[in-house]
Order: sequence, then structure tokens, then C-alpha cells
Amino acid sequence: MTEQDLNDGRYDVVVVGGGAAGLSAALVLGRARHRTLVVDAGEPRNAPSAHMQGYLSRDGMPPAEFLALGREEIARYGVELVRDRVTDVARGEDFTLTLERGGGVRARRIVVATGLKDEMPDVPGVAERFGRDVLHCPFCHGWEVRDEPFGVLASSPAGVHQALMVSRWSKDVTFFLHRVAEEELSDLDLRRLAAAGVDVVPGEVAGLVVEDDRLTGVRTADGTVHSRSVVFVAPRPVPQTGLLERLGAEMDETPFGTYPVVDPNGLTSVPGVWAAGNAIGFTEQVVHAASGGYRAATAIVGDLRMADLDAALGA
Ligand SMILES: Cc1cc2nc3c(=O)[nH]c(=O)nc-3n(C[C@H](O)[C@H](O)[C@H](O)COP(=O)(O)OP(=O)(O)OC[C@H]3O[C@@H](n4cnc5c(N)ncnc54)[C@H](O)[C@@H]3O)c2cc1C
Repeated sequence: MTEQDLNDGRYDVVVVGGGAAGLSAALVLGRARHRTLVVDAGEPRNAPSAHMQGYLSRDGMPPAEFLALGREEIARYGVELVRDRVTDVARGEDFTLTLERGGGVRARRIVVATGLKDEMPDVPGVAERFGRDVLHCPFCHGWEVRDEPFGVLASSPAGVHQALMVSRWSKDVTFFLHRVAEEELSDLDLRRLAAAGVDVVPGEVAGLVVEDDRLTGVRTADGTVHSRSVVFVAPRPVPQTGLLERLGAEMDETPFGTYPVVDPNGLTSVPGVWAAGNAIGFTEQVVHAASGGYRAATAIVGDLRMADLDAALGA
């Protein structure tokens, strides 16, 4: 697509982000015969992972293959997709979106499906192995590593919850307190950890031990190496919601990031702007993201239909 094409005319809908949420919205919009453009920077959150789990009928499919199939499906309905990044958005009679590579596009409605970024704990080796043997989500990876020796790296006292959860998948769990003081854990935390058979190791974690490209242990600052083949961490979720903030959408601060306030279909407080997927919450898995994109799209189809009919009545 050339810049000329991009500037030529306006779209009914521009979907920002071509992950599960954005592609799902685009599929429904294309099938509803709306002129739709997806602008996608091409950095889906689960890219570090070789397999996507828990999506009925697609369990185990590589994430890249899932998205490639989605792109094929939207193309059947004439939806356009461009690999670019939306850097700014302004609201007038239409929305005007600025693209990183230059130029802009106009749209009557927009869907923000920009996902979130995972900010890794500052421990050497963790970021490099994320999605392989450094994991964050037992629902995504737990089955594949069941019964292996797990470590859980605390980022805060809330790490107790993760340690207790992952103990469903392995009876051999060590909870590394890292920079959390033991006194920060409640008596109930400690009793639950004991009931789950989780070992608690105080002291800072200095790094991971990797042999032949496999995690073999966790080294604490006192030099002890604890033999572990999997480590669960709690990355800090950083929602990619800058565009919504620029549009003045009402936002809600949570312990897991700041997300837009949305109705059940993903409509934000800004008329004409919907959001879906990890852009509205950090617990949105792929199946939720796809579902959210679908819901936003059906709401947009209804909204545009009524707007067009009302305009015709007015004329
Ligand atoms: C390691 C790992 C493994 C996971 N495994 C699973 C699993 O097994 N099962 C499961 O259900 N979930 C899994 N998840 C969660 C899954 O990644 C998310 O549920 C899913 O990616 C959310 O989809 P999304 O469309 O909201 O966002 P994304 O998939 O992150 O897509 C957002 C897209 O928007 C693009 N974008 C962002 N900003 C802009 C912009 N300004 N302009 C244009 N494009 C932009 C991004 O580049 C990206 O392509 C995993 C997550 C991680 C980190």
C-alpha cells in the first residue's frame, strides 16, 4: 500500500493493532462490508512463545501461525492491513491517525487493540529466556512443564499468589523472596505456602544458571545454586494505551497498569472509540482478546448503521 493509497479517502474503521483482538474485530467488520484498515506494528505480546495454549481448536498452534491465518481470513473480505505504527490520533469530524512511516489515515470509528508490553524483572538472564523456561502464566505453559522443579521469583508480596497457583502444576516449588522481606508475608501466606509444600528461600536472586541453552538453576546472592528447570516471574504489565490517553479517554488506574474505562462491548468514554484485548486488561488471554474484538466490531456495525440512517433521515 502506498502513502497515496493511505491518504485516499477515509475508512469506516481503522483498527490499531493486528493481534488476536484487532484481527478478530477486522474479520467481523470486513464481513459486514465496512471499509476497514488494520495498522499493525507486528509485535504481538506472545511472540516469545513457540506455542499458544488454551484456545479451543487451536491449542498448541504457534502464535505466528495463528496470526498469519487471521490475516489471510481478513484479506478474503477486502480488509486492508499495513505494517506500521500509529503514532498519534486526533478527533474531529473523523479521526485522523498519523503513521510512523509518514502520512495519515482518516476513519469514522477506531478500535484500539494495541495490547501490552511485559517489563521484565531486573535479574540477569530473565528477559532473554522469557517464554521458554522463564514463564509468567501457568494457564499458558503450566501443562507443558508439569512436575518439573519450579522456581517462583517474587517481585512483591503478591508473588505468594503465583507460588500457590503454580503448585497445582508441580509439587516441587521454591519461592524466591528476592527483594521481598519475609516480614511482608502474612501469617496466612506462610501457612498456605507450607500447606502447598512450597519452600521459601529468602535473599536476593543474583541470576539464572543456564547450560546448553537450558535453565538449570537459580543463583542467590550468597552463591548458592538452587537446581530449577523453570522459573515463574511476574512481569510488570505496561498497557499500550497512549493513543487512548491522547484522545482523553477516561482511564482507570489498577495495580496492574492503567486501562480505559469501557462498556461490555469495549466502547471507551470517547464516542467512536472502542478498545479490546490486553489494551483493556492484563488478564485478557488470546480467546478473550478475539472475543473482545468481535464484540467491539458488532457494536461498531450497529453504531455506523444508525448514524447512516439518521443522516439519511436528516437529509
Ligand atoms: C510469553 C507469553 C505467552 C503467552 N501464552 C499464551 C497462551 O498460551 N494462551 C493465551 O491465551 N495467551 C497467552 N499469552 C497472552 C497473549 O499474548 C495475549 O492474550 C494476546 O497477545 C492479547 O492479544 P491482543 O490482540 O490484545 O494484543 P497483541 O497480541 O499484543 O497484539 C497487539 C498488536 O498491536 C500492535 N501495536 C501496538 N501499538 C501499536 C500502534 N501504536 N500502532 C500499530 N500497532 C500497534 C503490536 O505491535 C501488536 O502486533 C501469552 C503471553 C506471553 C507474554
